[in-house]
Amino acid sequence: MSVTPSDVSKPAAQTDPAPSRPVVPRETRGVSTTSVHAGEARQKSDNAITDPVVMASTFTFEDTQSIINFIENDEDRGEYGRYGVPGEKVVERKLAALEGAEDAVIYSSGMAAFVGVLNSMLSSGDEIVFFDECYHRSREYTRKYLSRFGVVTKEVKTGDYDAMEAAITPNTKLLVSESPTNPHLSVIDLDRFAAIGKQHGVTTIIDATLATPFNIQPIVHGVDLVMHSATKYMGGHNDLLAGVVLGSKELLDPIRKLRGIMGSVSTPHNCYLLQRGLKTFGLRMKQHNENGLAVARFLESHQRVEKVYYPGLESHPYHETAKETMRGYGGLVTFLVKDADWKQTAAIVDAAQLARIAPSLGGVETLIEQPLVMSYFQCTPEERAEFGIHDNMIRLACGIEDSADIIADLQQCLDVQ
Ligand SMILES: *Cc1c(COP(=O)(O)O)cnc(C)c1O
Repeated sequence: MSVTPSDVSKPAAQTDPAPSRPVVPRETRGVSTTSVHAGEARQKSDNAITDPVVMASTFTFEDTQSIINFIENDEDRGEYGRYGVPGEKVVERKLAALEGAEDAVIYSSGMAAFVGVLNSMLSSGDEIVFFDECYHRSREYTRKYLSRFGVVTKEVKTGDYDAMEAAITPNTKLLVSESPTNPHLSVIDLDRFAAIGKQHGVTTIIDATLATPFNIQPIVHGVDLVMHSATKYMGGHNDLLAGVVLGSKELLDPIRKLRGIMGSVSTPHNCYLLQRGLKTFGLRMKQHNENGLAVARFLESHQRVEKVYYPGLESHPYHETAKETMRGYGGLVTFLVKDADWKQTAAIVDAAQLARIAPSLGGVETLIEQPLVMSYFQCTPEERAEFGIHDNMIRLACGIEDSADIIADLQQCLDVQ
């Protein structure tokens, strides 16, 4: 008899003595209270205030009858680490509460989460439609790899809802967008996106990594699935990789089953780091939002800056949509340097003294990078033009330092000739 992952991904009894305690819905408590308390048992193992980190790849049974009971009675315990680890459920419940979702599945990385969803949902002949500013590795996966299994990828211009609708055929299974997008920070009208999916019976998924549930809640707008690279704001400390997919139990059950086969689970220590990072989620997001806006306003007023991409600025083409759907606009700010070639732009990045030169975003440290060099160096100029990556573009991922210090650093960077 085979054991299904849904049976065994339940938390081990000793780490969660009160599994019947309901998830605290986001609507009744604030984001910070939810990030500190939701999903956790009130009384934990050894009466500790923190959850234990259980380092085990396998879980023992007293005797043969206990195995049979476990298989037949859907018992609350673990069996083998690939189906999920103790401690993971706590974080999944916490994330589901923050998102206003019924359920959540955690992965070893954001990309593992996305690949897990696609592999579970798509078959040969199926079609998937993207808004074209989606994370390039996501589109690379479908275009380069899923195409080998007969899955067809279509891309339409970000924010062109008519084009998205026109791209739908009876074979379309999934509509995908990010909101906001990276690095252009285009913001999606979530109601409209969700409505297109519902009207055509196609599942919708939003990668909300840049917004987090602090700033948007796509499920509340009717989007079917939300995914995050929890590596970014949710972990928040640039010290872990993780991903999460959220939605209804019905949609997530087969996705979780496939995760148990793929083995793209998060480790016990990683889950603990994510849970710990989430404790300060609300506080950090407030500071990221504040810093993003202050830095965007500073850059917009600087004579060496040609253009700033930040949805919180009135000048941003998606500002109205952002104002309606977002609580804050996040820490990511992209800008173009006036009359600069790629080397002059690189000199500005290299002058940074506080900001660290690195990819990624969402951690406590401010990071700076030139997308042309960091992510698109091996592309042709034509490809870069297609992706909207300019030679003079700089992407700043504001951390949680004091905004005056981030601005002072940028000021001295922009003084470099
Ligand atoms: C980083 C990122 C991903 C990929 O997540 P990993 O955790 O690095 O695998 C996906 N989408 C967006 C928007 C991201 O920023």
